[in-house]
Amino acid sequence: MGGAGAPDSAGGGASAGSAAGPAPGLCGRCRHARVVKTRRGSRFYLCRLSETDDRFSRYPRLPVLRCPGFQEAS
Ligand code: SF4
Repeated sequence: MGGAGAPDSAGGGASAGSAAGPAPGLCGRCRHARVVKTRRGSRFYLCRLSETDDRFSRYPRLPVLRCPGFQEAS
């Protein structure tokens, strides 16, 4: 479901100066993303669409700037 998934501005926004890892890009605000933190403080974004659609990586390479599955989290 969902047709219009394309973001209008890819990669826009202020650069987050987080030391926890690279800026996640779209995954940072996608409803399908789940943040996984390791004991060492690293942070990964798990794409839950990967469970049902193998076009998506379980752990997408960040930053994700364009993604056909992106849906803004509410
Ligand atoms: S659907 Fe795309 S933007 Fe959303 S979590 Fe998966 S890889 Fe990231």
